[in-house]
Amino acid sequence: MKRITILGSTGSIGRSTLEVLSLHAGDFEVFALAARSSRQALLEQCLRFAPRYAVLEDAGAAQGLQRELAQQGSRTQVLVGAEAMPRVAADPEVDVVMAAIVGAAGLDSALAAARAGKRVLLANKESLVVAGELFMRAMREGGGELLPIDSEHSAILQSLPEQRERWAEDVREITLTASGGPFRRTEAAALEAMTPEQACAHPNWSMGRKISVDSATMMNKALEVIEAHYLFGMPASRIRVLIHPQSIVHSMVTYHDGSVVAQLGVPDMRTPIAYGLSWPRRMASGSSWLDLARIGRLDFEEPDAARFPGLGLAFAALDMAAGACAVLNAANEVAVQAFLDGKLRFTGIHRVNAATLEALGGSKARELPDLLDLDARARSHAAARVRALAG
Ligand code: NAD
Ligand code: MG
Repeated sequence: MKRITILGSTGSIGRSTLEVLSLHAGDFEVFALAARSSRQALLEQCLRFAPRYAVLEDAGAAQGLQRELAQQGSRTQVLVGAEAMPRVAADPEVDVVMAAIVGAAGLDSALAAARAGKRVLLANKESLVVAGELFMRAMREGGGELLPIDSEHSAILQSLPEQRERWAEDVREITLTASGGPFRRTEAAALEAMTPEQACAHPNWSMGRKISVDSATMMNKALEVIEAHYLFGMPASRIRVLIHPQSIVHSMVTYHDGSVVAQLGVPDMRTPIAYGLSWPRRMASGSSWLDLARIGRLDFEEPDAARFPGLGLAFAALDMAAGACAVLNAANEVAVQAFLDGKLRFTGIHRVNAATLEALGGSKARELPDLLDLDARARSHAAARVRALAG
């Protein structure tokens, strides 16, 4: 029996994780469920999965949750505040941590799980973008196992040799596939007027709002290039991005002998989640089966740098000082939120990101306090750019 903590349990990845777990009730026990403020969703999850702890960042919501749980006769104990997240991630009784909080807000608890030597199922790609070196070091020192949940990175891991020593030597390059998002065919001139609702209507995946907007700008793929760089120790020059609208080939590895090894499947996050839970073995995920005859064709094309300039920022940031990726991530979080709040146009997101990276991308930061300080400075710089563009 493995004990699992799910950080961000009420989100898209968190809910899919619980669905997979419910197929394997005898093998996993839920130790803690954590979310920001979604009290009703967490209440329902607690009644169904009976975790030892439920964590809410929001104090008011937490009080209400504790009361409702007690009324229903539940023994789940409610913990309050951001400080409780790393505690339930690092608890000695926990074996597996699903890190599925969105944004840099998830760094603290993902790092705690890494340091404590847990099996870390990492959906929160922003942690690796903000603090890639530090995070990978924490994993090595903690001695746990890192399993990427991002479908592309899970696909790469499934396509790489089992022996890590061979990754650098045998592999020529890795290719991340990208659906192209909802605006793949949208003309450049029309992008400016795109609304949050249009940006969040992804053709293949149903996801949280932040990553949906990231897919529409292709900043999601930019973050994933940085994620792949740290996860697999690949230089940026050996990471490619290819548009693949059907989202069936989840990514691929090209070897020096000309072989390309890829992982395929229907677009369903329960597959990479199940792989992370069962690795190195396999178990049912609840996903449907791939029927290539029904799909008929798989298309590929180069990304369009003119309409989606965000992708280039990843390669630029990887070329700058250690800290530039944290700057890019912070700017993007601020810009996406401003767009979702109706305070910034769709095309403004890239402007804010590019300007913030240009202003602060030369900053060196390696250790956590410096990275957090840089993250805060980049956020205020980006917020000022948002105001300037609005005014
Ligand atoms: P979501 O918005 O649906 O859910 C986010 C979860 O995090 C919620 O449970 C929310 O309560 C919690 N949360 C948000 N801010 C928090 C905070 N400050 N403290 C504590 N909890 C907080 O997001 P999602 O789509 O599930 O994505 C989660 C992560 O997984 C992101 O990093 C995303 O890039 C990554 N990811 C998602 C998908 C997908 O298909 N949804 C695919 C690949 C990677
Ligand atoms: Mg992905």
